[in-house]
Amino acid sequence: MEFCMQLSLVLVLSVFVVPAAVLSDSSLSSKGVSEIPKKLLNLAQKPQVFDWMVGIRRKIHENPELGYEEFETSELIRAELDKMGIEYKHPIGVTGVVGFIGTRKPPFVAIRADMDALAMQEMVEWEHKSKNAGKMHACGHDAHVAMLLGAAKILKDHEKDLQGTVVLVFQPAEEGGAGAKKMIAGGALENVSAIFGLHVANHIPIAEVASRPGPFFAGSGFFEATISGKGGHAALPHHAVDPILAASNVIVSLQHLVSREADPLDSQVVTVGKFQGGDAFNVIPDSVKIGGTFRAFTMKSLMQLKQRIKQVITGQASVHRCIATVNFFEDEKPISPPTINHNDLHEHFRNVAGDMLGFQKVKDHQPLMGSEDFAYYQEAIPGYFFLLGMADDALGPLPTPHSPHFRINEDALPFGAALHAALAVRYLLEFPQEVPSPAQEYHDEL
Ligand SMILES: [Zn+2]
Ligand SMILES: [Zn+2]
Repeated sequence: MEFCMQLSLVLVLSVFVVPAAVLSDSSLSSKGVSEIPKKLLNLAQKPQVFDWMVGIRRKIHENPELGYEEFETSELIRAELDKMGIEYKHPIGVTGVVGFIGTRKPPFVAIRADMDALAMQEMVEWEHKSKNAGKMHACGHDAHVAMLLGAAKILKDHEKDLQGTVVLVFQPAEEGGAGAKKMIAGGALENVSAIFGLHVANHIPIAEVASRPGPFFAGSGFFEATISGKGGHAALPHHAVDPILAASNVIVSLQHLVSREADPLDSQVVTVGKFQGGDAFNVIPDSVKIGGTFRAFTMKSLMQLKQRIKQVITGQASVHRCIATVNFFEDEKPISPPTINHNDLHEHFRNVAGDMLGFQKVKDHQPLMGSEDFAYYQEAIPGYFFLLGMADDALGPLPTPHSPHFRINEDALPFGAALHAALAVRYLLEFPQEVPSPAQEYHDEL
């Protein structure tokens, strides 16, 4: 087995020299598998790939579209795939696109980008500012799409050298819309053995990457409660049932779920970010609305929080003679699972990124309380998610994602494209044992 694998690597590398249309000086073969990542980076940094990616990113940035409304973004992606002669399926998950490069045979490895923007007004004054009022690519998903297309371009140029199939997953609605879930339901992971994804990071230097094995991003859920009492004159509280006081006690009690009920070594968050009730100084309102989010690193902890949030809200409200209803938005914003990186893929990532950037540029990262719907893919198959550095002293501090001042360092695009491509190429070379046996169910229609 070992020997066969090594032999096939040699054979593969010996054909990975084939001249590419764009990249004829790039022989990916001669020095072995560890040279592939650097060579792919060289290809991605060539002006004809880099400038093209920058152009695509800016075009998408000017026309941000919200979750499940990425119709023009999806159209642009398909137009570029058509130009490259890459086959794809569409629509999956409303606006999603799934492309295929390689043999159309197993193993299949997926690389993923999200396409959606945020409902916020861009405050950056520049030539390619958002043209859609109240919408902005403030999380870098415009760059993610450009990088995945960049990976597609360099892989397509070496298609006949691929030892399997690379699946390009362009998904809608990452920002709380569970787009990944819809992509999976639409068959995006059919036959796929592993999936890789990345996110740009403003706090990590350019040409560096960071991640960790195991839990990386928290899982999250949202809730909203209506606490109803009986309105009345502020000077006659005994004739009213005060929902403001009830809601205030609810919020204080919710804080005890983390401080008193959760294991201190199992990080969790409950935050109430919305408190709406009353309009006048001298009126007790009829009802109050509160809402918030809860986060944890296991589904068990998330489900426990969900159950206790409901009990605390309804129980505390009744202590104050109010009635409460709680909505967890199961349909529109289902609980997003924690993002859990596969251990074997962590080793793969370290090797590939280390070969490309130098091992000192591949950093370990602490777990993050933010959440990422890439987690849905990881529930289904082995997956790996990492952060791609963008910070550069010459640009000054880059604002955090979801800031109206958010900016992308476009110099990061070739790194993202090359990492996508290299993770996929090397996966196909180094994980051939993942090929399903004929006995397993296998669908070969693409
Ligand atoms: Zn975001
Ligand atoms: Zn994002």
